[in-house]
Amino acid sequence: MEIESSGGSSASEPVKKGRRFRIVFDKKNCIGAAACAAVAPEFWVMKDDGKADLVGHRVDEDGNQVLVVSETELTPEGKRVLDLNKEAAEVCPVQVIHIYDDETGEKII
Ligand code: SF4
Repeated sequence: MEIESSGGSSASEPVKKGRRFRIVFDKKNCIGAAACAAVAPEFWVMKDDGKADLVGHRVDEDGNQVLVVSETELTPEGKRVLDLNKEAAEVCPVQVIHIYDDETGEKII
């Protein structure tokens, strides 16, 4: 069983972990279309303010909701967390969901 640690890697770490990806949600520009919640309800829920929330997020210094996920992370149903959130980003009509490689900062979508 592979155990993920939340810390950095060490030189003696024998197991190659999956890449980590940072989901960044610019909530202030969300128009509440709910497309994200339709395709990935495990991660996107609609709130009383009419906008979405990213489940499990923290808020960054710019007020964005942020969640870091691993390439290998799966939902309890066995779906890839990264794929679900890529899909949410693709269907958002105002493109306020972004995904970056957490290490290199490369924009994935
Ligand atoms: S699809 Fe985009 S605009 Fe619609 S609720 Fe989700 S984040 Fe907001």
